[in-house]
Order: sequence, then structure tokens, then C-alpha cells
Amino acid sequence: DTFDELGVPRKLSAALAEAGIIKPFPIQAATLPDALAGRDVLGRAQTGSGKTLAFGLALLARLDGGKTRPKHPRAIILVPTRELAMQVSEALSPLARSLGLWCRTVVGGLSFVKQVDQLRRGVDLLIATPGRLSDHVRQGTCVLDEVQFTALDEADQMADMGFMPQVRAILDLTPVGQRMLFSATLDGDVRQLVERYLHDPVTHSV
Ligand code: AMP
Repeated sequence: DTFDELGVPRKLSAALAEAGIIKPFPIQAATLPDALAGRDVLGRAQTGSGKTLAFGLALLARLDGGKTRPKHPRAIILVPTRELAMQVSEALSPLARSLGLWCRTVVGGLSFVKQVDQLRRGVDLLIATPGRLSDHVRQGTCVLDEVQFTALDEADQMADMGFMPQVRAILDLTPVGQRMLFSATLDGDVRQLVERYLHDPVTHSV
């Protein structure tokens, strides 16, 4: 398989090839066709499996061709830690740029005011930790009413860290749209999240 054959837009597969990423990993081959078709996706996958590009490519492809520089994000990725947010941002920002899309990151421990300024300059895809995104929502500096695509990464870790109330509050504020959830384990709080917020998801385990 190639990324083209899985339905990834040519501009994205070209940008991937430049970074030496040619052949899809199993989680990407399994989830991309369903995600690109608009299905909700439940992925059971560990760190290092390539899950970032599995949901990242799907979100970027779905955003491609839509309006750019909106004031409100059209896609959000929730992650448990600042470190993971930075990794996801490093992987996806160059790809977003190749489509003319704006990728922003809001995490705790960094300047709130700077994040407000960046959000004001335009955001298509927002990568966030639940606590800091909740702060922006409460302050009115980020509005979630145009979110069409949501990815939850390492959902079990977000549950372990006590972020479920914020995650649920954020999801309650987004239109239903398309949702993807990735986690190493799918029980307890994560199972409840899936039952409440994902619609008829296809499950893939690697
Ligand atoms: P992740 O599990 O998303 O953190 O990805 C783990 C590592 O694999 C990252 O360094 C990615 O750049 C790399 N990677 C992801 N997908 C591919 C691929 N299809 N081909 C080569 N490297 C990849």
C-alpha cells in the first residue's frame, strides 16, 4: 500500500515523501480509509505505532479545501501532556503548512497571552491539553462551535491524569462531527467516553 492508495491527498503524500515517510504503518493502513470516509474511529495502539499520522493525516485531509484563517478551529487534537502536544505539533505542523492550513498548540505552562495572540491570527487545527483548552474556552479566547473533527490521543493517560471532566466538557461544547479516539487500553473511563461521544465507531487494534 501507499498513502495515495489509502486516499491521502497528493499534496500530503508528497510532503510525507520529502520527510522519508513512504510506506504506511499498519495502524495507518487500517484506519485511514475509514477515517477519510468520515467514520468515527477507535484505535487501540501504543506509542511508536504511528498513530499520530493515522489521525493527523485524516484530520488534515478532511480540512483540506475548507476555508483558511478562521477565528475558530475546525479540528482539535486533545493530548494528555505538553511533551506529547509538542511532538504531535512537530509531526503535523509542516504537513498543515503544505496545505496552507494553520496549526496552533495550546498547553499549560506556557504564556496564555501568546496563545491568545496566535489563536487570533488564525487556527484551523488546534493541538491542546484539556486543562489549558478549558481555560481558553472559559475566557472566551477559544470558541469550539466550528469544530468538525476531533481526535483524542492517549485517552487512557488523560483518564489516569484526571482530565476526564475537562475532556467531557470540551466534547459537550463541540458539534458532533467526526471523532477519533486512540488509546492503549479501552476500558473504564475510556469505554464510557467511547459510548457517550463516538457514533458507531470502527475499531482497529494493532
Ligand atoms: P507515533 O507512534 O505516531 O509517535 O510515531 C512514531 C514514529 O514513527 C515517529 O517518529 C514517526 O515519524 C514515525 N513514523 C510514523 N509513520 C511512519 C511511516 N509510515 N513510515 C516511517 N516512519 C513513520
